[in-house]
Amino acid sequence: MDIALDQKVLPRYPFLKESQELARRHVESLEEFLASSPGAAALDRAKERVIAALTQKKEFQDEAARNLRPEFEIAGYALARVLVSCVGDRLLVDRLARYESERASFFLATEDPEIRRFVAMSIGIDTGADALPVIDYVELVTHMRDLRWRLVNRDVRQGTVHLAPGEIDDLIRERIRVILVDHMPLRVPSGICERLAPATKEIAALQQQQALEQFGEIKEEAFPPCINALIRAITEGTNLTHMGRFAITSFLHTVGMSTTGIAEIFSRAPDFDVEKTMYQVEHISGRGGTEYTPPSCATMRTFGLCANRNKDCERVNHPLSYYRLRKNVKKKRG
Ligand code: SF4
Repeated sequence: MDIALDQKVLPRYPFLKESQELARRHVESLEEFLASSPGAAALDRAKERVIAALTQKKEFQDEAARNLRPEFEIAGYALARVLVSCVGDRLLVDRLARYESERASFFLATEDPEIRRFVAMSIGIDTGADALPVIDYVELVTHMRDLRWRLVNRDVRQGTVHLAPGEIDDLIRERIRVILVDHMPLRVPSGICERLAPATKEIAALQQQQALEQFGEIKEEAFPPCINALIRAITEGTNLTHMGRFAITSFLHTVGMSTTGIAEIFSRAPDFDVEKTMYQVEHISGRGGTEYTPPSCATMRTFGLCANRNKDCERVNHPLSYYRLRKNVKKKRG
């Protein structure tokens, strides 16, 4: 399918090959671009994008209504991915991918049908389809949590899964999200990350603040029994499995503990090795692209990490929900 997209349309779908080509024609060297005034404006837009992603804003403005030229708007999108990659936190990568997919989906909803079809086709989806081969369907919905996407809940006939009206839009949004997640974090030269440090520090601080606002002050006494058991195991010098280290690190990181705070917990181990620990903690906290979200109770059980269950555990299906629950109880009791 071949149509020429108007330059004004391209910033709505900056992940398209056509959009990237337009930006590349105007940005030869990233270093030089960042030193120019359009570069500074694009960086501001990039920051705005990441902050909107972090704060989960759902209002999207058509870039044509802004003053920046389309190629620099697209450069803003590219720079947002660079910023997130420099911060190196998996949660941020997920948030940006989600934001970008929702943004594109917002514009697609009212887009000219030909353009809509073109954008969808460019990511391998036919907007006219009312059924998908089972293999394609399963691949698309792997990370969709709503039960209605489970294959057992679908109308499957002759190797195809039938779609209800409107569902194709959800699948397009999900495909965009997955494509973006799969391509991040980017490998950014350290010199560029250093240059972007003022912006990445601001973003990291906002992220930290958000974590603190979500979970408030860290209260070890509200930790679920599984996490306490892991802390005890560390203190007693027990060798944890990778999943055990991942569970405790991602949990502590999500409730707002700093990398140094987490390393301090690991320092309770008799054979504590500061360098190795910092490397592992940073890696699990997201720098290596490892999945960030702490495991659910079901996963903890599968890996033999659900220890000392108590009656509050019956009310939750995630260690983070346990923590929230216990903190709220403590707050109410003053
Ligand atoms: S039920 Fe969940 S919160 Fe409770 S101990 Fe097991 S994994 Fe932890």
